[in-house]
Amino acid sequence: MRNRTYTADAEPGRTVTVAGWVHEIRDLGGIAFLILRDKTGRIQIKFEKDEMDDELVETGLGVHRESVVTVTGDVEEEPRAPTGVEIVPESIEVLAEAAPDLPLDPSGKVDAELSTRLDNRTLDLRKEEVKAIFEIRAEVLRAVREQFRSIGCTEINTPKIVATGTEGGTELFPITYFGREAFMNQSPQLFKQLMIGSGLERVFEIGPIFRAEEHNTPRHLNEATSIDFESAFIDQREAMDACESVVRAAYEAVADNCAEELETLGLADEFEVPEDDFPRISYEEAIERINATGELDEQLVWGDDLSTEAERALGDDVGGHYFITDWPSEIKPFYIKDHDADPQLSTGFDMMHPRMELVSGGQREHRYEKLVEGFEQQGLDPDSFEYYTKMFKYGMPPHAGWGLGGERLVMTMLDLPNIREAVLFPRDRQRLSP
Ligand code: ATP
Ligand code: MG
Repeated sequence: MRNRTYTADAEPGRTVTVAGWVHEIRDLGGIAFLILRDKTGRIQIKFEKDEMDDELVETGLGVHRESVVTVTGDVEEEPRAPTGVEIVPESIEVLAEAAPDLPLDPSGKVDAELSTRLDNRTLDLRKEEVKAIFEIRAEVLRAVREQFRSIGCTEINTPKIVATGTEGGTELFPITYFGREAFMNQSPQLFKQLMIGSGLERVFEIGPIFRAEEHNTPRHLNEATSIDFESAFIDQREAMDACESVVRAAYEAVADNCAEELETLGLADEFEVPEDDFPRISYEEAIERINATGELDEQLVWGDDLSTEAERALGDDVGGHYFITDWPSEIKPFYIKDHDADPQLSTGFDMMHPRMELVSGGQREHRYEKLVEGFEQQGLDPDSFEYYTKMFKYGMPPHAGWGLGGERLVMTMLDLPNIREAVLFPRDRQRLSP
């Protein structure tokens, strides 16, 4: 529609054509209002029944809620209207009639269960506060891309259908690939590392990862969006610097460009860009601090992974984003490098929000012999990863990187109760459609 005006741009004194959904019809007798909603907001259309063509009034007021219409008319100032202006219609066209019974009420007056909302995501996203989440998600991804570009990364796209997994066998989704067994990729880990030895040197990828997670939880998806970074000639500390800069850039962009959305979500006052450097706490110190909180039934000992409760206890103690560094080598994957001075200690790190883990990363093992040893120690057959390991024989620089869960970033940023709120069409153990 070339001559369409967004409702937010309808200025008094102009004749405009607006297009959108019938949000509500308010019939007060001699006068009635149709509230039309589009991407930018809502506008009131006024019907003075006695002064208007009968057919126009009938069309405008007879249409079901959520039908799609265009309205042409004069914009007038009206202090009593919700936006201070209203349109006096000259013509109305119904482009798509909506059925009278809706599976979900987009006006939000009737609450709906999350599952009903996800089944009817199209209607759900007509609600301002739901749309706001996805406008912010888009801004986060834009800002993240821009930040990566500003620190010299090249965006890559790697295969999602793969021959082998990397992050543990039980979480793999098997598929059939022309009669052969294949899998949906759990992580771009090995591919992004292969690009470190290429001429690209410093890369990022934003793409799906697939994990057959054992349980439904509020923070796990079976298909998630991973924001991955990998760079040659840096160590884990510089990788943490990059991580912090990317997360901060996302917060800054939302603060700068999504004021309206934050307002809609009721976060205008509490939204804060993390200003201070994220504290870097060693694993050893982390378990001491967790034990000192007294929140856990059993004291943690060196070598334990951190449970959800342990993460929560430490998160409450720290109160903002932070890193946990120097994990025991045993509980980090084979591709993470150990400290030269102490092979029990890895260069692996996690970046945490007080509510949950957002990032895992580390310096990588770039020495061929050590890498192959690591595979064997983890019970993986190095032969099936030959496409990966052999490139470490032909000049693989030292490198480091990390992976950040896109949905977890949005979820923690907006304090959403469930990760599914940050995905259009979430995949979990029950949900495969839509
Ligand atoms: P967790 O222990 O919380 O299940 P993980 O340590 O298994 O996560 P990693 O393999 O370290 O996950 O992946 C890096 C990041 O990707 C995580 O920190 C998280 O933000 C995100 N992520 C991983 N798995 C999922 C998932 N199933 N759903 C949503 N995000 C995920
Ligand atoms: Mg992790």
